[in-house]
Amino acid sequence: MTKKNLRLFDKEELTTEMEALGEKKFRTSQLFQWLWKYRTLNFSKMKNIPKPLQAKLQELYILPETAVSIFQQSQDGTIKVGFETYDKETIEGVIIPSEDRITACISSQVGCSLSCTFCATGFLPRKRNLFAFEIYDQVYLLNELALKHYEKPLTNIVYMGMGEPLLNYDEVVKSLHRLHSEDEGLGIGAKRITVSTSGIVRNIKKLADEGLKINLALSLHAATNEKRTAVMDINKSNPLEELMAILAYFYEKTHNKITYEYILLNQFNDSVEDAIDLAKLCQDFAVYVNLIEYNPVDGTPYSKSKKERRDAFLQTLRDKGVSSKIRKSRGKDIDAACGQLANKIVKLQLDS
Ligand code: SAH
Ligand code: SF4
Repeated sequence: MTKKNLRLFDKEELTTEMEALGEKKFRTSQLFQWLWKYRTLNFSKMKNIPKPLQAKLQELYILPETAVSIFQQSQDGTIKVGFETYDKETIEGVIIPSEDRITACISSQVGCSLSCTFCATGFLPRKRNLFAFEIYDQVYLLNELALKHYEKPLTNIVYMGMGEPLLNYDEVVKSLHRLHSEDEGLGIGAKRITVSTSGIVRNIKKLADEGLKINLALSLHAATNEKRTAVMDINKSNPLEELMAILAYFYEKTHNKITYEYILLNQFNDSVEDAIDLAKLCQDFAVYVNLIEYNPVDGTPYSKSKKERRDAFLQTLRDKGVSSKIRKSRGKDIDAACGQLANKIVKLQLDS
């Protein structure tokens, strides 16, 4: 008989599973806490679970593990971690310390099925979705590293690593519940969690209806359909009009400001006219625009916007009343910056 993976069950499923073994509800709660809050992957360490039950669980179930396999620290303090999944895939996570917060950036898929032209992850094939427990593991392990290296826990979580979170909807939502839960998770406030998406309209709607008051970031990168489709193929099936309507809905439901991520690409989307187009997309709900410095990715034709163009772009937005700032890139020396995750893997593939 093949053993089942106990880390795949939500509370309800675990209850059913434990009931079949003749166990009472409180045992399920204890076990669920061990599995999530304390992330204990060894049945014999679950102290309040009686020995015979520990043995039974050991016989019937497995507890697959995600482990830190690569550790790199940048001159600016940023930490990049390679995680090895239970099936020997590699995913990446980053910890970005700043004055007032410690942010963990985590992956949602192995690779990505979308191929945004500027992004290193887009060059990798999507191998598989991550399970909720693997998303959770990244945060749990990055938190341990934050405590070890900065003597402070993580304060913020962003789903901005490898993959498109909203194309792994169910597992991402499960992971959000666990990260958020005080008793059966890490107790991270919804306001401190941000999911970044390339704009999957139907799932933005679902997320809005989920009742989780997390933040949403849209990777916008261009303010007209023509330009956006040129760099993000997903815009063909999820055009700006539909995106704007669904973001208005998300805002109505959560009252959380929407963040736009906008990489300034030299001579492509960084003119004053582009800024005027962008400002038009900031009228219907509260928006914050993060202007992102482009991080070079091998095999792409782009370069980063020049300082004068960047400044003029920012000023135009501000003149139109849009809150915005230019986001400094972190961890460049170790390829930990946005869109550079997987850069090394891509390089290896291009060379071979
Ligand atoms: N798939 C999701 C989340 C992962 S991408 C999404 O697209 O939103 C995380 C962020 O990194 C996105 O805003 C993405 O646009 C940005 N990014 C990708 N490549 C980049 C690059 N080369 N330089 C700077 N930012 C980049
Ligand atoms: Fe995938 Fe996001 Fe990169 Fe696009 S920007 S290829 S959606 S990870």
